[in-house]
Amino acid sequence: MIYDFRNFKGVENFAFGRGCFNHLDSILDKKRNSSEDFMVFLLDDVFKGKALEKRLPVKHNDLLIFINVKDEPKTKEVDRLRDEILQFSKQLPVGIIGIGGGSVMDYSKAISMMITNPGSSAQYQGLDLIKNPGIFNVCIPTLAGTGAEVSMTTVLTGPEKKLGIKCDYTVPNQILLDPELTQGAPLEQRFFTGMDCYIHAVESLSGTWKNPFSDAFAQKSLEMCRSVFLDHEPGIDADEILMVASYLGGLSLTYSQVGVCHALGYGLSYVLDIHHGLAGCLAFNQLEDYYPQGVKDFHKMLEKNNIKLPLNVCKNATDEQIRKMAQTTYNLEHMWDHALGKDWKNKITIEQIEDLFRRI
Ligand code: NAD
Ligand code: ZN
Repeated sequence: MIYDFRNFKGVENFAFGRGCFNHLDSILDKKRNSSEDFMVFLLDDVFKGKALEKRLPVKHNDLLIFINVKDEPKTKEVDRLRDEILQFSKQLPVGIIGIGGGSVMDYSKAISMMITNPGSSAQYQGLDLIKNPGIFNVCIPTLAGTGAEVSMTTVLTGPEKKLGIKCDYTVPNQILLDPELTQGAPLEQRFFTGMDCYIHAVESLSGTWKNPFSDAFAQKSLEMCRSVFLDHEPGIDADEILMVASYLGGLSLTYSQVGVCHALGYGLSYVLDIHHGLAGCLAFNQLEDYYPQGVKDFHKMLEKNNIKLPLNVCKNATDEQIRKMAQTTYNLEHMWDHALGKDWKNKITIEQIEDLFRRI
């Protein structure tokens, strides 16, 4: 088989295991070459005043910014934070460290690039639009599932669209996968973000872009998600397993794609402000026709983990909102191409997508 030639970039350094976060200080020290050099720490504000904040290796001229992720990352907020960092010092930071779930990691990936590229981040939503490499970027997940720690995209909501800035420069330079950091996450949130990983694997494995390279990562990731959420094998360290599953899920998408569920999920997030993990679950719940086994097992996972999905979420959505969600979804051509094939426009219509939304 001859594939479209794509020359991928990976994370340069990674460490895994309980306590690996303790090595952040020495990793950053290697980047501090003069007394003027400073780091910017972006920390999910859920950790404000908590033990994790106290463990950050913040030095005297570093900048610590708390990030609120009630809303998922927006281009406007990326630009504002970039300006705040540029005003903080006459020189540029030598590192941007994002510590949190997918939202904070995506902020750190985007800001790292926007410090060295002019204009608004909204200009760069798309493929390979960034011109200059970003600042050294470290991503440290405190929730496992999105794969943002390893992916070549940072998903942003802009004035016109929800779309990633996708290019080689988006990939973090360093990641620390410390399962200890995910321990306090609320069970529901842990489930929804974990399901993001599960859905990445299911979608990666069933579509036209799949190949042995993406399958290898997706199959293992799927197996690990099942062991955490379905089989509940005794004695397993679920936090450890989920963190590796997330990483593998992210890697599987480099060479494959997400599909129908993510296309619908983007519509839900863009128009109704529903977070990625929950939006994916709401959409997946209705997609038995496309992913029969995956959805069947998902229903079992909901039950086993005692998770009640909100129902009739789109009941009060106006016709205009439904239309906008369907259009946003339809515009994600690469996802449909992967899920249904090159002739996808003959297989799905905007009206059918609107019907799916009405059932959510
Ligand atoms: P999140 O980062 O949006 O966080 C969800 C909630 O969990 C927040 O309230 C946060 O404060 C809280 N939280 C995080 N860690 C916690 C912890 N250890 N203890 C207690 N609370 C904690 O959730 P997410 O699902 O990880 O990320 C979703 C985001 O990731 C979306 O913006 C989505 O677009 C993005 N995403 C990006 C990629 C990518 O490849 N770049 C892939 C998938 C999703
Ligand atoms: Zn996802």
